[in-house]
Amino acid sequence: MTPYRMLRGVVLRVYYPVLMFLSAFFKSRKEGFQRSVIHINNRLVRAERPKTKKILLLLPHCIQMNECTIRLTHNIYNCERCGRCEIKDLIEIAEENSLELFVATGGTIARKIVKEVRPEAIVAVACERDLSSGLVDTYPFPILGITNDRPYGPCFNTRVDLDKVKDAINFFSRDCD
Ligand code: SF4
Repeated sequence: MTPYRMLRGVVLRVYYPVLMFLSAFFKSRKEGFQRSVIHINNRLVRAERPKTKKILLLLPHCIQMNECTIRLTHNIYNCERCGRCEIKDLIEIAEENSLELFVATGGTIARKIVKEVRPEAIVAVACERDLSSGLVDTYPFPILGITNDRPYGPCFNTRVDLDKVKDAINFFSRDCD
């Protein structure tokens, strides 16, 4: 096990629970604590420098436009690519990079997808809470976490910086041709 991976274990299994304990007393800082854990995790995953093209891109359900009635949970490719939400762009990114792409409605489904797809690395988009707990659950798996943007509040028509998604994919798949 590399020192960076061990350090990631300390961050996720020791530092994170301590921060979550503290957040019981400093509730307003909870999201910031979670964001810091995601940030440190990403730095350490990058320092480990894993390389693979077998990447899973996991998205939160709330990135789908609320008015869209198409069911994406079992097959994101049901999307008709109308462009009203970023699912269309994310499908294109997945196709360009030959990635597995899924929408997960929660931690249990996300774990099931990971078990079925058996990727070697994950790029995960979610809110601070789901991302940080997901990183802890799946350690030592290499995951680059990207927090979503929530211009309309939590769990509703959320968005993601597509450049960050592309950058994370390029990081894992560099020199893998
Ligand atoms: S791109 Fe259009 S069809 Fe696809 S999920 Fe978004 S709103 Fe629905």
